[in-house]
Amino acid sequence: MKTSGIKKIDIHSHVQLFPEYMPPLYNGKTFVGAEQLFKLFDEIGVEKSVLLPLISIEGQVSVNSCEEAKYLSEKYPDRFLWFCNIDPRCISNDGKQDYSKILEFYKSIGARGVGEITSNVYVDSPDMDRIFSCCEELGLPVLLHIGAGFYSYGVVDDLGLPRLEKMLKAHPDLIFLGHSQVFWTEISSDNTDATRDSWPAGKVDGGRITELLREYGNLYCDFSATSGSNALMRDPEHAARFIEEFSDRVLYGTDYCLEGQSFPYKFNDFLNEMVESGNISIENYTKLVRTNAEKILGL
Ligand SMILES: [Zn+2]
Repeated sequence: MKTSGIKKIDIHSHVQLFPEYMPPLYNGKTFVGAEQLFKLFDEIGVEKSVLLPLISIEGQVSVNSCEEAKYLSEKYPDRFLWFCNIDPRCISNDGKQDYSKILEFYKSIGARGVGEITSNVYVDSPDMDRIFSCCEELGLPVLLHIGAGFYSYGVVDDLGLPRLEKMLKAHPDLIFLGHSQVFWTEISSDNTDATRDSWPAGKVDGGRITELLREYGNLYCDFSATSGSNALMRDPEHAARFIEEFSDRVLYGTDYCLEGQSFPYKFNDFLNEMVESGNISIENYTKLVRTNAEKILGL
């Protein structure tokens, strides 16, 4: 069965509106602009993508606004949808900020969700809890980058993701999209404090992600970046079982930020091989790369 006729929807992308004005990153590379991203999309069969603003300063030199994402989605309506984003410390940072008006406004001008939230605060902090309540109320899914501590970016959780579990339980009608190394290393039960913020190789057995997915129907999987794709590619037999069991909550993504990154091509080849070898059915492949996203995004 051929996968080439099934165009993908990418749940996770970022672009700079003015990449030429952005300082090079630590490795000398610059963030991609829209045209560079479309080149990748044409090569790996992505029809459209969800643009995720990055508005928290941790891990970045400058932010990438909701307004830019909205602007780009209007400029390239066949290629981009967009999420808005919010930092819990915005405006007053006194624990009293009303987030609902801000999120309501972004929803009214077309935002389909919220994220990627990368703010370096606890995922179950009172402010995050209130943001989740607003999103739940407004029917906006949230995409989280989970971090391991206060040294980089991402909403922080401990080993085993107990704080995320608290939020999954407290907000049963909110769709949480899980992403990052710290999220995906929990796919295996041998994860430790030393391995959790990395991209481990090797076989996978029943880790916390499987437990959380079984317990909470509002948790969804974002397979973007090296973190998400590696969680499947490190153990193809486990990947086949995982996609079969959670076929309605798995989502394809790229998170291609720097020109020359190879992981989207490797992941593309992996998925094609899994379908060709019969390890993933064409029905589940279609859910993964397209129809689950269509449902979440209301397309
Ligand atoms: Zn990202």
